[in-house]
Amino acid sequence: MRRSRAFIPTTKEAPSDATLASHIYLSRAGFISQVASGLYSYMPMAKKVITKIENVINQEMANAGCEEVELSFVTPITLWEESGRSEKFGKELLRFHDRKDNMFVLGPTHEEMMVDLVRNRVTSYKQLPINLYQMKIKFRDEARPRFGIMRGREFLMKDGYSFHSSVEDLDREFDAMERAYKKILARLGLDFRVVEADSGAIGGSGSKELMVIAGSGEDTLAVCDSCEYGANIEIFLGASDEAQKDIIFTSVKDIKGDEICPNCDGKLSLTKGIEVGHIFKLGTTYSAPLKAHYLDENGKAQPFIMGTYGMGVSRIMAAIIEQNHDESGCIWTKESAPYSVNIIISNIKDEAQVKLAEELYENLKSLNVEVMLDDTKERFGFKMKDAELIGFPYSVIIGKELENGVVQIFDRKTKEITPINAQDIKTKILELL
Ligand code: ATP
Ligand code: MG
Repeated sequence: MRRSRAFIPTTKEAPSDATLASHIYLSRAGFISQVASGLYSYMPMAKKVITKIENVINQEMANAGCEEVELSFVTPITLWEESGRSEKFGKELLRFHDRKDNMFVLGPTHEEMMVDLVRNRVTSYKQLPINLYQMKIKFRDEARPRFGIMRGREFLMKDGYSFHSSVEDLDREFDAMERAYKKILARLGLDFRVVEADSGAIGGSGSKELMVIAGSGEDTLAVCDSCEYGANIEIFLGASDEAQKDIIFTSVKDIKGDEICPNCDGKLSLTKGIEVGHIFKLGTTYSAPLKAHYLDENGKAQPFIMGTYGMGVSRIMAAIIEQNHDESGCIWTKESAPYSVNIIISNIKDEAQVKLAEELYENLKSLNVEVMLDDTKERFGFKMKDAELIGFPYSVIIGKELENGVVQIFDRKTKEITPINAQDIKTKILELL
């Protein structure tokens, strides 16, 4: 892409209510634009990052034997009445009538819809297990939408649902989903923990959350220093109210400072995390009330045993920046970067600079490297600031030194600038990616 034609409206102004780095930088770097409270439009750079995240998820879901579907966003309230969740969800469910006076809700999650899709279609234990997922906009009329896309009202979720004929088979799938989710977050370059979570009002027999470690996280975690064990402190303290959680966080720090890990002899310490994923053993919580049955080996009708697996795709985009930013802006990880390389022409009046930049740009494009060419008339200093704010992992600076056959590579993470012989630049870039 040519920067001269790209729609990346970078700005010095952060939204007045922005306190989180991801909210500030995704806005300033021209990724997201607020439309109303909790509602955001994604501009081209955000769309590219989201697609990257989706690709990683799709690949790992395919590896794990899951199939993608897409369910209707508008869902009939009758399904929510069948499951009994219409009441429980309360005001987070946005309800409305169509012209014939039928009532619908905007899907905040799709357990009911998925059960409805599968019931009467999968009728025998021989057709099980199956695991279906979608990448889909969700709407929750959150009481306090905040932190930009971290807690939006409209947001993108990968939601998956598995159907089984035994608890053992659900356990197996649950573990496979945990492994797949870990792989996804590792590939995206995130530092994370899997923690035991509160199964909440929904019940069920097991629930784990995937937490990206970040000081700005809304959840408090007790994590072991020696093993992988971690738990959301909600499960120790039964605290669901947020103000309460903050008080607990401060007091637990003193009281429970040297708690011992239930899994090994290690020491537990407290940290903050962003919940980016939630996997949950549902059992028959939805299949029973929705009368979704299959015939078992003895020809007896049984409700499906189910699991549900959610991942906050748009929240992951924010979490990447919470974990990877500095005072100059975003620092995208390799797998998440909208473009891997940004070529900066220092002075577009210099023919030699333009020629080399154009050659390198075409060359890298032909090798399927995602490359931006900054061919604008802006000053060099402005271009560098812009590149730092947007957060391309690498920039190639083609400037004055080209007279001596030298260009430079700028590493966004370390901010180091390394001189390279102009004729070696392509090879060097390919090595780095
Ligand atoms: P939270 O405790 O943050 O409200 P939740 O328990 O309501 O999350 P789930 O219903 O399990 O979340 O949804 C699955 C995933 O969707 C979450 O792990 C999170 O990453 C993401 N998610 C949930 N609510 C939002 C939101 N308002 N904005 C962005 N992402 C969200
Ligand atoms: Mg919620």
